[in-house]
Amino acid sequence: MAEIVLKALAHTYSANPQSPEDYAIRQMEHVWHQGGAYALLGPSGCGKSTLLNIISGLLEPSEGDVLFDGQRVNELPPEERNIAQVFQFPVIYDTMTVFDNLAFPLRNINIPGHRITPKVEEVAEILELTPLLKRKAKGLTADEKQKVSMGRGLVRDDVSAILFDEPLTVIDPQLKWKLRRKLKEIHQRFNITMIYVTHDQLEASTFADKIAVMYEGQVVQFGTPQELFETPAHTFVGYFIGSPGMNFLDVHYHAGEVIFADIPLTMPQTFVDAIANSKRSNIKIGIRPEFVNVHASQREGALPARKRQVQDLGTYSIVTFELGGQTFKARLPEGHPEFGDDIYLTFDHDQLGLFVDEYRVEVTS
Ligand code: ADP
Ligand code: MG
Repeated sequence: MAEIVLKALAHTYSANPQSPEDYAIRQMEHVWHQGGAYALLGPSGCGKSTLLNIISGLLEPSEGDVLFDGQRVNELPPEERNIAQVFQFPVIYDTMTVFDNLAFPLRNINIPGHRITPKVEEVAEILELTPLLKRKAKGLTADEKQKVSMGRGLVRDDVSAILFDEPLTVIDPQLKWKLRRKLKEIHQRFNITMIYVTHDQLEASTFADKIAVMYEGQVVQFGTPQELFETPAHTFVGYFIGSPGMNFLDVHYHAGEVIFADIPLTMPQTFVDAIANSKRSNIKIGIRPEFVNVHASQREGALPARKRQVQDLGTYSIVTFELGGQTFKARLPEGHPEFGDDIYLTFDHDQLGLFVDEYRVEVTS
């Protein structure tokens, strides 16, 4: 069991790094508390596997420190860090039985045989591998092999943490859902720190209490699914979380007004003041599609826009519209009033976000 701290951590695969782009992990700080169920969420190539391998010890960071309960472990190999890691593709011994595969991590640390059998049986039961225990791993399906691989990660309950690197990629969707619930169950039962890497926001939010969103080699926000939705700390989080993601309008201040593409926007005065006082040129207003209201006729403070498409998704519709030469989206509940091609928009003012140089700025009223 351990608290894992990443201190001024950075990593490059380049022998001669020149710029931030040469870093797979750009300098970052992070704390994973003991016992948490965490997800590490981000698009392909943002550095998730690199970060996980640095935590497990498969990779030594080029800069900064990894601390387990305050102890620097940079040079310690995975065995000595007491960490289990489950990879995207099965890592098992084909010639061994399923039982022996699951027992392997326990035998490796000299657990006596009479304690191994009950533990292997318990994990096999959870993963529904019991009928396969005597089978050689070679003959198993891809799903079964991955379950064995996960079982090998779960069999030791003395580990500091279990790291999962997109472990359900090769698993079919039905079983995926079931296994995710099992992992959550195991987490609750053993109180082991778990870090679950995925590029899928739904997977992240069903498994984790807290999600670290990664973008270009940094954790840009660490929060609950609700926090990521309500107060994204970075435009990337706004865009990546939500379905569809947040709308962003590039704005500037001119003569007492906030302007987007020559269109003056109706804004709370606090936003007008914050934008007027900002010294930066990269200023965006963010509004989630859920908080864009579509009206059929003009009204005070509404912005005229063009409807482009309406997708009916059962309990809600996604309206794509054009405003100031750009496309945006609104998400409307079932049974919303009818409207034509010319529409009029209002934004829920208490749901607006202000982003300066891509980071959220708190606007105090
Ligand atoms: P993710 O797991 O989020 O998809 P990775 O950590 O695998 O991202 O990769 C982060 C960046 O580092 C990518 O640009 C990738 O091309 C690069 N990278 C990953 N592994 C290596 C490696 N062994 N050698 C060189 N570059 C690598
Ligand atoms: Mg990866």
